[in-house]
Amino acid sequence: MNLVLMGLPGAGKGTQAEKIVGKYGIPHISTGDMFRVAIKEGNELGLQAKSFMDKGDLVPDEVTIGIVRERLCKEDCNQGFLLDGFPRMVGQAEALENILASLSKKIDFVINIDVNQEILMERLTGRRICISCGSTYHLIFNPSAVEGVCDRCGGDLYQRTDDNAETVQNRLQVNQKQTKPLFDFYESKGYLRNVNGQQDICKVFDDLDQLLGSLHE
Ligand SMILES: [Zn+2]
Repeated sequence: MNLVLMGLPGAGKGTQAEKIVGKYGIPHISTGDMFRVAIKEGNELGLQAKSFMDKGDLVPDEVTIGIVRERLCKEDCNQGFLLDGFPRMVGQAEALENILASLSKKIDFVINIDVNQEILMERLTGRRICISCGSTYHLIFNPSAVEGVCDRCGGDLYQRTDDNAETVQNRLQVNQKQTKPLFDFYESKGYLRNVNGQQDICKVFDDLDQLLGSLHE
């Protein structure tokens, strides 16, 4: 089961990734983790990646792709993998196709956890923090008993600038614009599957599970 997981911020990708990995026992390969491991192992590509990251620069594609290739060659990927955070660009997706072809593998599904803009905005702008004790709340997921007042200490709740509507909307738009060509690429390959992420977390996983179950039929 070779999977790529996609979804905008707030779509619930992390939660569903954990559930998929838990049930199917395939490794969860996120780019961040992959870099950390490569750096820790001190291998050539890891050291190259580190030299860019230390300078605050983006790791160039050929290094990232090399690290992905090394990771996918490891034995724990024999039964499959869940890629998360890679690819980000069509060029990387094409490179991934080549890596997999050289390993006689192919992607089964590119899963997009689909949530509309309005709901993402609600999820991403709902965080509130207590000005006195730092407790965090969420207007939908974890509301305080009295709106704007901390349950623990009675302090005022505020919203971080990072969480305000304008910043969040901007972040979503940039993200959407960047991933559109990637969706088109995977759509044209016939890999793309949209899963409705606007449902209850367990229901989203049921849908995913049903889709993944179809691989064994
Ligand atoms: Zn408080």
